[in-house]
Amino acid sequence: MSNTHVFHRHLHHTPPVAVSGKGVWIQDSSGKEYLDASGGAAVSCLGHAHPEVLAAMHAQIDRLAYAHTSFFTTEVAEELAAHLIEHGPAGMSHAYFVSGGSEGVEAALKMARQYFVETGQSQRSHFIARRQSYHGNTLGALSVGGNQWRREPFAPILIPATHVSPCYPYREQQAGETPEQYGQRLAQELDDAIQRLGTDKVIAFIAETVGGATAGVLTPVPGYFKAVREVCDRHGVLLILDEVMCGMGRTGSLHACEQEGVTPDLLVVAKGLGGGYQPIGAVLAQKRIVEAMSQGSGFFQHGHTYLGHPVACAAALAVQHVLQRENLVARVRQSGARLEALLGETLGGHPNVGDIRGRGLFWGVELVRDRASKTPFDPALKLHARIKKEAMARGLMVYPMGGTVDGRLGDHVLLAPPFIATEAE
Ligand code: PLP
Repeated sequence: MSNTHVFHRHLHHTPPVAVSGKGVWIQDSSGKEYLDASGGAAVSCLGHAHPEVLAAMHAQIDRLAYAHTSFFTTEVAEELAAHLIEHGPAGMSHAYFVSGGSEGVEAALKMARQYFVETGQSQRSHFIARRQSYHGNTLGALSVGGNQWRREPFAPILIPATHVSPCYPYREQQAGETPEQYGQRLAQELDDAIQRLGTDKVIAFIAETVGGATAGVLTPVPGYFKAVREVCDRHGVLLILDEVMCGMGRTGSLHACEQEGVTPDLLVVAKGLGGGYQPIGAVLAQKRIVEAMSQGSGFFQHGHTYLGHPVACAAALAVQHVLQRENLVARVRQSGARLEALLGETLGGHPNVGDIRGRGLFWGVELVRDRASKTPFDPALKLHARIKKEAMARGLMVYPMGGTVDGRLGDHVLLAPPFIATEAE
């Protein structure tokens, strides 16, 4: 065991001590600088120490650091919710504030279930999700998550969820199949799963609009989400989109679902919402869901101590104002095109790079032992851990992850630089 009292992620390894951050750089206690090319885990959209965000947080702390939401609302929470609804997908009416992505997914799952309890369909008790997905590490979020390695030790204590195929053209689109046909086939698989479980038994289908942490950025094929939306509507199943990682501008639109032309029933955002300045996430809910609860019990049977934390809301509101004023989502599209070209030029011909995929400033590089057969490296090599170690030694933060033991996914590296990164950086 390492010589520390902090329960670190790895008990054999204490990471460097981060002491300061500025822009795209983090400095450790030895004075070494790291280029934050992954925004941590796609969090730091404005980089570090943005003066406007810090000032907004300080001003809020001076006024009111905390007020429990069973007693009060706050101006800053109201303003943030109004901003998110004004700029959110059509039909959304309310934002439920939590402290992060997993909490957001838990709240969305329970909101979806309670919606059906309130509307006389309490027999609906099952979720459908996708393999190679990540929705968080709390038990509900882990249950819908499709990362086998994360699920395995906890399998006996997870809630019921069925997993269908991810949208993963590099490995799963068949020869002779167009992207559109592939998307239709996946939607049919969802339809089949709903019919098998019972069309009146399923609460919701949950998916990351652009897959992130498990599969190194999976962008949907054209028409996939429209077809999925149709299937859900046909069976009265809710669509929950998890944009914890891919949302809030990361893919070149404020919400990734805008590019798919679909509107979810519940949308979960976090990470880029507060840009890492404070822990915050939100569930945006369609008006009819909130109305059903309002006309029913009038109460969402959920809640945490730090819901709508004023300082977190102040940070998130300041992040959103900077994003809007500096037109940073458009900048994501421009920088993203440059990053795509650079990745192609530098890595495209590498014999161990199987696929480079992404959108905006959200890119994944999948590594293979053999390019022709797409054979992944042996997971026992722990290639992803070695890449992280080598990158950190060279002062670079990227976000690598392991592939799957069954060879259905290779090791991959995720890049998600801050939106404010300059071309030189
Ligand atoms: N959902 C997605 C898509 C994520 O990428 C993550 C985190 O990486 C989560 C949920 C969980 O968020 P958190 O780590 O803030 O609990």
